[in-house]
Amino acid sequence: MKTKVAIIGAGPAGSSAAIALSKKGIPNILIDKRRTVGLPVQCAEFVSSSISSYVDLSSMPSAVNQKIKYICINAGSKTYKFSGSGYILNRDIFDLNLSEKAVQSGSKLFAGSRVYKIDRKKNCIEVLDVLEKIVYEIYYDYLIIAAGPNNIFKSTHSQGESYIYALQIKTELLKELDSVFCYFRHYIPYGYGWVFPKGDHANVGIGIEKPVSDVNLFSSLKKFAGELRSEGLIGSEVIEKTSGLVPVSGLNDLTEDNIAFCGDAAGLTHPVTGAGILNAIISGSLAGDYAADSVEASKNFLNDYKEEIESIFKKPFLTASKKRYRLYPLMNDDSGISENIKFLWPSFEEYYV
Ligand SMILES: Cc1cc2nc3c(=O)[nH]c(=O)nc-3n(C[C@H](O)[C@H](O)[C@H](O)COP(=O)(O)OP(=O)(O)OC[C@H]3O[C@@H](n4cnc5c(N)ncnc54)[C@H](O)[C@@H]3O)c2cc1C
Repeated sequence: MKTKVAIIGAGPAGSSAAIALSKKGIPNILIDKRRTVGLPVQCAEFVSSSISSYVDLSSMPSAVNQKIKYICINAGSKTYKFSGSGYILNRDIFDLNLSEKAVQSGSKLFAGSRVYKIDRKKNCIEVLDVLEKIVYEIYYDYLIIAAGPNNIFKSTHSQGESYIYALQIKTELLKELDSVFCYFRHYIPYGYGWVFPKGDHANVGIGIEKPVSDVNLFSSLKKFAGELRSEGLIGSEVIEKTSGLVPVSGLNDLTEDNIAFCGDAAGLTHPVTGAGILNAIISGSLAGDYAADSVEASKNFLNDYKEEIESIFKKPFLTASKKRYRLYPLMNDDSGISENIKFLWPSFEEYYV
């Protein structure tokens, strides 16, 4: 089979790319190994209200679980409160709705289909239909890789990446919250714990950089959840468990010949906060736009994609990466945390000094 643009991964990045291409009338195929796009959810689901500039959330009301007004940073014994309007999404519904928008705009979606090989010389991907157990080839003019963190399709000159290993439970929330809470604790090194409310439930998790730290994720999450239970914030029932990786080494390769990387596949999660949903949407839309222009003009404009992404993300990500490796080692006890938190987290004015 042939298409102008093939997209690997129907997460926020891939579906945004597909929507951008279809809006310009460029034939494209969106491929995801998951049988149902969006499942399982591997996310704490908070996104800032800036998402409204890119996605019309009113057209997918069930994708929003609740509104958020504040971001609270709990560092040792002190809690700082910042305005931080946003949404807690139902990521399963959000991702599914976004892929449906792509299909409604003209994209073809192959779910339950795992891309296992890229032949860069032949401009061809090899795909396994997981359900039917058949393999087939798709030939493309341009390829967009939006396959998430630590996927198998690195660019040929990709450097090593660092990851936060995250572990999360969904549990009962005993208080009504309109804030997301981030907790800095010495037993969650090179990362943080979070409580993100979902109505009468909460996503409660921790993220720790490996192998920088050898702290055991399970015991750290157990300790964190125990602390929250003793404060009366969460109940004891664990409704769901999830885990995942968050790239924290900053921008990776964005292009390679006629291939564009976007979202987590390009390392576009913020190196300190780990936020990646919005950046996936922004980079996916831009990758789709530039791939569409390239097809229309029969001229490769992906280098312009690279330059535009770098102009948005390179400087802030470099700052965040430097702070990450300079400040986290100093935050291995309560006094280190309270002295340094203001220089580490972007909600504080001191972060920008
Ligand atoms: C525990 C956790 C909590 C997080 N919390 C937040 C948060 O609160 N806010 C926030 O902004 N960010 C958060 N993030 C980060 C956020 O989830 C990601 O940045 C975001 O999902 C990136 O979108 P993406 O489209 O690039 O990749 P993904 O959402 O990972 O989508 C990639 C898709 O590619 C598919 N795929 C992979 N390989 C193949 C293949 N070979 N063939 C076919 N398909 C393939 C996958 O099935 C998947 O559907 C969190 C991450 C984790 C792990």
